[in-house]
Amino acid sequence: MVVEDTTRVKDYLNKTKLKYLDYVINPYVGCPNRCLYCYAAYMSSFSKHSEEWGEFIDIKRTNKKINTFKIKNKKVMISTVTDPYNSFEEKYKITRMIMEQLVNSEAFVSVVTKSKLILRDIDLLKRMKHVEVAMSICLLDENLKKKIEPFSSSVEERLETLKELKQNGIKTVVFISPIIPEITDFKRIIEETKDYTDEYWFDKLNLRSSFKTKMFKFIGDEFPLYKVLYENIYNKKDSQYFTELSEEISKYCNLNGIIYKDFSAGT
Ligand code: SF4
Repeated sequence: MVVEDTTRVKDYLNKTKLKYLDYVINPYVGCPNRCLYCYAAYMSSFSKHSEEWGEFIDIKRTNKKINTFKIKNKKVMISTVTDPYNSFEEKYKITRMIMEQLVNSEAFVSVVTKSKLILRDIDLLKRMKHVEVAMSICLLDENLKKKIEPFSSSVEERLETLKELKQNGIKTVVFISPIIPEITDFKRIIEETKDYTDEYWFDKLNLRSSFKTKMFKFIGDEFPLYKVLYENIYNKKDSQYFTELSEEISKYCNLNGIIYKDFSAGT
């Protein structure tokens, strides 16, 4: 793993056109979690690294303080192309330093992670005016999780983390993302987590570049029955599967009084 600790950036805040958001903060470039489906791998082309995505991490540094006036009442997500509580955060504490700056802001802060390390910062989360923690969960089967998301917290750890956050009065979200066709069972995840989850978010599996090849190989090896479906969705661009799934999500959530956001609807 190549660690670059001299990466200077102008500002931690970046404006975004992503749905439901105004700003994003990514404390690191790169992500050591190495999820098989990683949608963020395209970020490699914006770095100076020749190593593969997942093999490098840049620790972002800046002297500029976050302009909390600029983000008053704005929606800020930490993070979109890395896990802000990835294993390097234990040592470098960039996310914690950013959270310390946000504590007294009036921004609506959403923290997205797959890591139990977020519990380290519960003192800060409890002091923030508008904050929610979104735990990404796309599978409940630990054996399958190990194959698809090998280096992030276990399913059990993520569920326990959510419970602890909830017990401490923090708004909790389960981000069912990515929805891996025929493998992610969104209803089972909701059933399992609904007692300590305030809201659900959904996003579909997008496949790009070498990660498409990796996922196709995985499906071919582990779920050969679904090969045709994946061909249709990702090679023939057939949108029917996800259109129908979005309708099913909407119907299920409305029927069961579940608050939700579907990040993939209409895209
Ligand atoms: S946690 Fe997110 S950014 Fe990191 S490897 Fe997984 S999908 Fe990619």
